[in-house]
Amino acid sequence: MRRVSIFGATGSIGQNTIDLIARAPEEYEVVALTGASNIKQLAADAIALKAQVAVTADAALLPDLRDALQGSGVEAAAGAQAITEAASRPADWIMSAIVGAAGLAPGMEALRQGTTLALANKESLVCAGQLLLDTAATHNADILPVDSEHSAIFQALVGEPMDAVERIIITASGGAFRDWPLEDLPNATLAQASSHPNWDMGQRITIDSASMFNKAMEVIETERFFGVNPAMIEVLVHPQSMIHALVGFYDGALMAHVGPPDMRHAIGYALHHPARRHLPVERLDLAAIGSFEFRTPDEVRWPALRIAREVMDRGGLSGAVFNAAKETALDGFIAGHLKFTDMSDIVAATLDRLNAAGGHIDDMMTLDNVLEIDKLARETARAAILKTAR
Ligand code: NDP
Ligand code: MG
Repeated sequence: MRRVSIFGATGSIGQNTIDLIARAPEEYEVVALTGASNIKQLAADAIALKAQVAVTADAALLPDLRDALQGSGVEAAAGAQAITEAASRPADWIMSAIVGAAGLAPGMEALRQGTTLALANKESLVCAGQLLLDTAATHNADILPVDSEHSAIFQALVGEPMDAVERIIITASGGAFRDWPLEDLPNATLAQASSHPNWDMGQRITIDSASMFNKAMEVIETERFFGVNPAMIEVLVHPQSMIHALVGFYDGALMAHVGPPDMRHAIGYALHHPARRHLPVERLDLAAIGSFEFRTPDEVRWPALRIAREVMDRGGLSGAVFNAAKETALDGFIAGHLKFTDMSDIVAATLDRLNAAGGHIDDMMTLDNVLEIDKLARETARAAILKTAR
């Protein structure tokens, strides 16, 4: 039996992972499931999957979790520290699907134990990519990409030498506002930004898709994970979300990964890697689809893409600043303190501010320094939001 844990089990990726695991319960021993606010789901899944332990990030919800698990034999735990401790329990495979920088510490802990980390939590690569890769190398642990574009690139690279790669193209649906007139963007509402044309995902990544902060993160994720020069990475708007990424080789070949917009493909690939197993995803009927459309992304509509290039040029800990400022600006938009288009201004201002302050962005990439600059960037972004809020 393979020992598996799911971090962020109650979220969109977590639930898709559980869907796959629950289809073959005899193959898996579930070690830990973690969530935050959704205690009902967490407890129900932990009981159904006979997990050793269920952990909520919210310490105040421990009594509720205990109640919900009463008599089941599943242990209950709570708080950020308990989540990281759950990552230290022996397991063969861990799904890292917590949203935000909160996924970094448990992911690092899993790697330190030599556990294979299926990584949906792109924030940890953006914040501390080199640290994650170095930790994996030191402890002989694998990181498998789960983000659909990165799973696609990873699959296109099987058996290929990295030095034959000339370019990597990641596609973007363009999100909710792809075809909106530019002048309407400042008035976009939370409900409008929270609806994705193709993918069914958590609210935060859905809004990040509309602003292209998600794609900006993914460009950085590509640079970090595959170790390529930023100039080799291109973004292509592809409204149908069926080609997830393309890898161009120096003989002119482009290998495209084509599939339905269903995260169970990328999750399943990471779960069974290096084998391929039957997965319950739709088989595409290309003749019925008829045609695929592509466009060059517009950096006026999506300034996040330009900011990502600046972050890669700057290097150091600027990825952690970028991510923290983005998360804080997103909180500001969700709370109604910012207009949709203010988010990129807040992120750019935070990066400018912390660059000008000097020092910290060039500090060594350790977990403590990343968490420290994450905190500083959140404070800086919050101050910028207070100034902007209307
Ligand atoms: P969701 O918002 O659906 O789920 C997030 C999960 O994290 C939930 O289990 C939530 O618990 C938990 N959580 C929230 N805050 C904390 C915290 N502070 N500490 C610990 N756990 C917390 O997100 P998604 O599933 O959409 O995304 C998860 C990750 O995967 C993100 O990094 C995202 O970028 C990435 N990803 C997602 C894709 C998708 O299709 N959804 C595609 C590619 C990448 P609760 O719900 O109980 O509050
Ligand atoms: Mg993606």
